[in-house]
Amino acid sequence: MKSILITGAAGFLGSHLCDRFIREGYRVLGMDNLITGDLKNIEHLFSHPQFTFYRHDVTNFVHVPGPLDYILHFASPASPIDYLKIPIQTLKVGSMGTLRLLGLAKAKSARILVASTSEVYGDPLEHPQTESYWGNVNPIGPRGVYDEAKRFQEAVTMAYHRFHGVETRIARIFNTYGPRMRLNDGRVLPAFIGQVLRGEDLSVFGDGSQTRSFCFVDDLIEGIFKLLMSDYYQPVNLGNPNEISIMDFARELIALTGSNQKIIQKDLPVDDPKQRQPDISLAKKLLAWKPLVKRADGLKITYEYFKSIPEKDWYNKAHNFEKYIKR
Ligand code: UDP
Repeated sequence: MKSILITGAAGFLGSHLCDRFIREGYRVLGMDNLITGDLKNIEHLFSHPQFTFYRHDVTNFVHVPGPLDYILHFASPASPIDYLKIPIQTLKVGSMGTLRLLGLAKAKSARILVASTSEVYGDPLEHPQTESYWGNVNPIGPRGVYDEAKRFQEAVTMAYHRFHGVETRIARIFNTYGPRMRLNDGRVLPAFIGQVLRGEDLSVFGDGSQTRSFCFVDDLIEGIFKLLMSDYYQPVNLGNPNEISIMDFARELIALTGSNQKIIQKDLPVDDPKQRQPDISLAKKLLAWKPLVKRADGLKITYEYFKSIPEKDWYNKAHNFEKYIKR
């Protein structure tokens, strides 16, 4: 049986990856320090004979027993409000955490895929973004902690590939949504759905003309799986090129949920990218992959998921970051 270590296992993408690799017949070692992850996302796996969970912070030395074939490094705060609250942890997991896992991959002769991000392109001056674009990132702005950690992650991953011959893969993940996002993680989709559920007006930041392109989680997981199994070590964009303005997205959600909330405008966060759309030509050619789930269908599934969470549990997922902050 092949073994895979998945960091960030209790998070949104990590937990879906655990499910996928269990289904594929792997021994899955899930690792998470639960700073933004939630055990509820993987509790259905605890009794599964192929699954083991380690509560561990990957910025410290990582040890796992036995042979390891693959590593997926998905541990990181991923929402702008999270990395504003825990900037140093965000920097550490992308830099020190990635170094630990590359070291582990080298020691175990395992292939490692790291979760990079469209944020490496910053507020892009090229549209859509291809992998050859170097980006437009403000290193010292509030988002810099995430963007630069992920850019370092790519640099160190390529260095381990070139210098140590480690088998590495880099996925540049664009906005992804679906069940198991945190209702209060601040990202636009859970924010809007939370507001619909509470009967509040939808908060559009700025004039809402900024765009994003949203990929349903099942499509993304398929792309990650195919990239891991490929022999391509350069970065690959994974996302859905179907682009929409945030204002239209709010209107779409109001129509979909049949709610009668209004839209209110709030201040645009600092360095909020004005537009974002992946060019996925490379993934299409290399992996024979493209997203299949239409936004209307994906949003419906996601809304039903959030509706199914009892109101009393909505904010059980709130995390107490204070306890992690050493001053
Ligand atoms: N946004 C918004 N209202 C919200 C939350 C986010 O208008 O309540 C906007 C945000 O300013 C950004 C877009 O939605 O332009 C996507 O934000 P998100 O935090 O989901 O992720 P990002 O793509 O910026 O990393």
